[in-house]
Amino acid sequence: TKWVYTFGDGKADGRADMKNLLGGKGANLAEMSHLGLPVPPGFTITTEVCTYYYDHGKTYPDTLTGDVRAAVADVGAKVGAIFGDKDNPLLVSVRSGARASMPGMMDTVLNLGLNDETVAGLARQAGDERFAYDSYRRFIQMYSDVVLDVGHHHFEEILEIHKEEKGYTLDTELTTADLKALIVEYKAKVAAELGQPFPVDVNEQLWGAIGAVFGSWRNARAETYRRLNDIPESWGTAVNVQAMVFGNMGETSATGVAFTRNPSTGTAEIYGEYLINAQGEDVVAGIRTPQYLSKAARVAAGDTKPSMEESLPEVFTQLVEVFHTLERHYRDMQDIEFTVQRGKLWMLQTRSGKRTAKAALKIAVELAGEGLIDRETAILRVDPQMLDQLLHPTLDPKAPREILTRGLPASPGAASGIISFTADDTEKLAASGRKVILVRAETSPEDIHGMHAAQGILTSRGGMTSHAAVVARGMGRPCVSGAGALKIDANAQTMTVMGKVLKRGDVITIDGATGEVMLGEVPTVQPELSGDFSTLMGWADSVRRLKVRTNAETPLDAETARRFGAEGIGLCRTEHMFFEADRILAVREMILSAEKAGREAALAKLLPVQRGDFVKLFEIMAGLPVTIRLLDPPLHEFLPHTEAELAEVAAAAGVPVSVIKTRAHDLAEANPMLGHRGCRLGITYPEIYEMQARAIFEAAIEVGEKAGSTVTPEIMIPLVATKAELDILKDRIAIVAKAVAAEKGKDIPYLIGTMIELPRAALRGGEIAETAEFFSFGTNDLTQTTFGISRDDAAHFLDDYLRAGIFQKDPFVSIDEDGVGELVRIAAERGRKTREKLKLGICGEHGGDPASIAFCEKVGLDYVSCSPYRVPIARLAAAQAAL
Ligand code: ADP
Ligand code: MG
Ligand code: MG
Repeated sequence: TKWVYTFGDGKADGRADMKNLLGGKGANLAEMSHLGLPVPPGFTITTEVCTYYYDHGKTYPDTLTGDVRAAVADVGAKVGAIFGDKDNPLLVSVRSGARASMPGMMDTVLNLGLNDETVAGLARQAGDERFAYDSYRRFIQMYSDVVLDVGHHHFEEILEIHKEEKGYTLDTELTTADLKALIVEYKAKVAAELGQPFPVDVNEQLWGAIGAVFGSWRNARAETYRRLNDIPESWGTAVNVQAMVFGNMGETSATGVAFTRNPSTGTAEIYGEYLINAQGEDVVAGIRTPQYLSKAARVAAGDTKPSMEESLPEVFTQLVEVFHTLERHYRDMQDIEFTVQRGKLWMLQTRSGKRTAKAALKIAVELAGEGLIDRETAILRVDPQMLDQLLHPTLDPKAPREILTRGLPASPGAASGIISFTADDTEKLAASGRKVILVRAETSPEDIHGMHAAQGILTSRGGMTSHAAVVARGMGRPCVSGAGALKIDANAQTMTVMGKVLKRGDVITIDGATGEVMLGEVPTVQPELSGDFSTLMGWADSVRRLKVRTNAETPLDAETARRFGAEGIGLCRTEHMFFEADRILAVREMILSAEKAGREAALAKLLPVQRGDFVKLFEIMAGLPVTIRLLDPPLHEFLPHTEAELAEVAAAAGVPVSVIKTRAHDLAEANPMLGHRGCRLGITYPEIYEMQARAIFEAAIEVGEKAGSTVTPEIMIPLVATKAELDILKDRIAIVAKAVAAEKGKDIPYLIGTMIELPRAALRGGEIAETAEFFSFGTNDLTQTTFGISRDDAAHFLDDYLRAGIFQKDPFVSIDEDGVGELVRIAAERGRKTREKLKLGICGEHGGDPASIAFCEKVGLDYVSCSPYRVPIARLAAAQAAL
């Protein structure tokens, strides 16, 4: 097996499409080498070594030592230096790189290969002693932190004390002598902490760093990130060892990060930051405030520090050319890391950049316009789930607001919530149902869980490419970063701004599109859905086969869904209409009367209101199909709870309270979800479904007459297990239809179908389709009844199941294709065998889940139905599934 792949000097063993083996970073370093871009030479130890390492008790393949030794020598030959040589030492970086980019999850060690001897050689070679000792100091700190587990703070303390003694404020004031003294102290600290000296042998250093990268694949941070992003543990990480180039060699050296387009808005412009005389993560660590790359961006931001375009114009021009080369080659927006060593540009990384939903749409549409990709590729480029970011309200521009301060618009969207200063606290508050804004000086990978739980993130330090900004954009959380006017005191749990002291629990609002931080909660407005959004959705609509309907019972939901492009209602839950204040009393009267006559009296009161509900829905849907499910939940859900409510119902029904209480007691069930509900109610209390059917038919005629067309309602019977149930109910509904038709002198076209939500119904689909004209898969209940798991109680053990790998995904979020999916497949096949034109749809939560939608496409359903806000997501997912 080939364990080691080299790159650099215009050649490489690997390619961009070898990410599984080389990781994203390694594969793209190889690709950039092929493109002839300036990449410091190096080599990649494959992900297969990581797998081997964990499979063999943390040991390496036999030949690896020799392979690495040869590869290091080769890198040295390419740059004209020797690893560990005291006159002309080669220094390397050791970098992790998994298949999917995991920002900040793994630790990089820079300047490896330094010790007391080689540092002197480096100083002579560079002709710059201060630079060499600065690199050595950085190396000891980084290596100790990442590999030896002696944390940064040890060194920062030493540094602070030293600076204080000397009266310095900036690191740049440190002289070579200061650095040398610091190095002695750093090493003493490591020896004291570890009980053994800092390793001087460069090979020991190298293998220590390689082991740390592989080890970090299973650290807690990486595991959290993988869990949140569905990345399997089996992938493993690669290790990249690469010749160092130095951004800290004085005023013509620099380090920077860039995106080839604006990752927040998608605009095609130079976007990025750099720092003169700095190294590695200095830019993203938020220690010094980075400077803009382009002059235009600097001027727009009103910044005075020179842009790279102004301070290093030649390198800037070259960088812009590299942007073009990379975009043409990868046909996508790239996220780039680079270093300038004494006026020479070096490329250290490229990858497809994370972006907001807004940017994803714009970039996809514009790349298609530029001819770099076709429309189908553009459709596939946008993650449907991300659209959610665009559909939600933004701050009402007319709403009054008290602006506390402004930071950088790091990730768009508006969020309001209470302030919390730690990730753990944020997670706890969010779990108790609070909306939280996580406020930090800067974030680090340890904060990921808190960022996930927060509505939005606010930091006082760090730029547009800081950890907080990058992670927030990836998660779709609004973020304002680098709000320098904020004084955060995490210990006291306060932040001070403009003389105001805000405490944990105080409410603020942040606007990630403008960078504004406001006091209290600011009202919001609905988003505009035009421009790139409608262009891409138009493309998606033209390729998808599946129809997209919505689950809606209120006029507001129905209208929202239509605005989002719903093509009908797939599920109108009539019981939700019963809970409204003006009718719950009549509903309770109906339920609580033991006699049919009492029930009919109450139902007579409900008929006109129910008819009014349907009239509104039919009008809004203007001829689009509307599926109405008859009453489904166990009756006890409507029961009065308080004494006052009981008395009220008793008075309305004209019976003593004790009668009502007894009846309520009679209705109680041990296991209501499997009890007297769904069509079972229709069987035992025919008058309920008869009233509902009448309301539907009368409304259909009313709306049809007004619009001069016919409304064809689809009546859906829930929780059917047998054909016999459906036969009985269908006959009764037909009698109502005939009666209404006779009264109005009008024909009433309608369809009768059923939900398939019990395994028996799915299996007997062939027979049930003799009666049913459509099936709608109620996959929430079908998942519950197939697994025998109650969705409401699953939370107690679901996490354990996911962790233990029993479930790969929450089956209530993404359909269990193997089990529940098989039942769907069987019902669809058997149903269509009986009735070729049987309409098939899905109306559970799964109808808005892209993975489940892909499954629906495979099984050949006619439509999916989902909540209004998921309609655009479903439209795009359906298009992707069809491609
Ligand atoms: P991450 O995956 O966290 O981005 P990287 O491996 O990309 O980590 O390393 C972080 C930074 O370290 C890079 O952006 C770059 O600035 C610096 N770096 C890595 N390797 C080198 C190198 N060979 N020479 C100079 N700087 C390097
Ligand atoms: Mg990092
Ligand atoms: Mg990087």
